[in-house]
Amino acid sequence: MPMSRELPLSADAVVVGGGTVGAWCAYFLRRAGLETVVVAEKGHLGQGASSRAAGVVRIQGGTAAAVRLGAWSREFYLRQRAEIGTDSGFVQQGYLLPCFTTADVALARARIAMQQAIGIPVRWATSDEVDALNPTMAPGSTLGASYCAEDGFITPPRNVAAYTAALVSSGVIIAEQTRFTGLGGGGGGTGWLVRTSRGEVCAGLVILTGGPRLAEVGALAGVNVPAGGVRHQVVVTERHPAFGDTPMVFDVPSGLYWRPEEGGLLWGMSNPDEPPGDNRAIDLAYLSRMRERMAALVPLTSELGIRRMWAATIDYTPDHLPVIGPAPGLDGVFVASAGGAGMMWGPAIARATADLALLGTSDVVDTAALGLERFDAEGRSRLAADPIALPFPEALKFPEALPFPEALPFPEKTVS
Ligand SMILES: Cc1cc2nc3c(=O)[nH]c(=O)nc-3n(C[C@H](O)[C@H](O)[C@H](O)COP(=O)(O)OP(=O)(O)OC[C@H]3O[C@@H](n4cnc5c(N)ncnc54)[C@H](O)[C@@H]3O)c2cc1C
Repeated sequence: MPMSRELPLSADAVVVGGGTVGAWCAYFLRRAGLETVVVAEKGHLGQGASSRAAGVVRIQGGTAAAVRLGAWSREFYLRQRAEIGTDSGFVQQGYLLPCFTTADVALARARIAMQQAIGIPVRWATSDEVDALNPTMAPGSTLGASYCAEDGFITPPRNVAAYTAALVSSGVIIAEQTRFTGLGGGGGGTGWLVRTSRGEVCAGLVILTGGPRLAEVGALAGVNVPAGGVRHQVVVTERHPAFGDTPMVFDVPSGLYWRPEEGGLLWGMSNPDEPPGDNRAIDLAYLSRMRERMAALVPLTSELGIRRMWAATIDYTPDHLPVIGPAPGLDGVFVASAGGAGMMWGPAIARATADLALLGTSDVVDTAALGLERFDAEGRSRLAADPIALPFPEALKFPEALPFPEALPFPEKTVS
């Protein structure tokens, strides 16, 4: 693989990490008028979580901030072609979040009221309506569902291609095979000395991203970021005509979600008992357990073979909410995490981080509560967790600032 071009001696901004958060942030910084913006990526663009995701884009967020981030990202996906000449492949599919208990129903109705107040076209669907909207589901298996026709999904590798095109056409300097190793200098008027495996860049503005490895990136800069990574698995079944255009479904209690994919059904899941850390090995025992749940909810899946499956490390934060904020005590350094929802929130987080860095505020979302200040020294958040989230490991150990061992070799090791 050819080496990236020479690093400049100085830049207006250096963004660490070439995933969806870092790359779109670099693009927005450049679009906002910064002359020299560098993305420092230790491997190649998209080699982290961003190319391996399931692509679900849900505006039915569990908190007002989540709703706004989802809605902004969806709008961005819709206008990409006009703005950058290509797109991330957003498909509007509709999303059902079914309820199985009366307690679920009460929570869903409260959530719908919150979402409708923000202007999201979400509504309650009765049990019969759920069966009609998605005839592949076991009839009568739900008490009803919240439903939003505007939810959908992107194609994650296509999103990587879209942000690569946006970076190139906007003139962002893409520095691949360039590992961030630390910060020197004192920031402020003289700027930061951004140290990388390929040399130093002096920059007044530094954005730290890293997805599942953000804690490690933060530690290199001397910032304690309570964010981690854990295995997440995705399966795609054989094709079957019944899946057609059926809406996506999120079975929140079991952490299972599914959507049509190339004629078959894609389903994804996190195991709450999983220990945190990098892991890209397939856990067949857990897949088999979840396949039973799938068969109970979508009986057709029990007859279908698996066409492909993969496991990858997904990012998380202790409250399932994003991090958008300054690095405490480091003038001009900002931290951004999608908290495991970078397909649905990534572009909005990227834009809000760029806004915050340049203007001190953002019209995408109120970032005041989303910074690192919300966490105590043990990584506990003062905010209530987003209730509509994957069941990430409950027994989290924060801060997880030290590099964790790699269970499997990562692609960058084969890149030289
Ligand atoms: C299997 C799976 C399914 C998912 N499904 C969905 C979904 O359906 N919907 C959804 O919203 N989200 C989903 N996600 C989550 C989503 O993919 C992530 O939230 C998102 O990709 C995070 O983007 P990021 O840019 O923060 O991180 P990443 O994409 O991981 O990018 C971080 C980058 O930083 C680089 N890096 C790390 N350390 C350094 C360093 N020292 N120097 C330089 N570069 C460094 C890495 O190489 C990497 O490229 C899924 C994730 C997985 C794994």
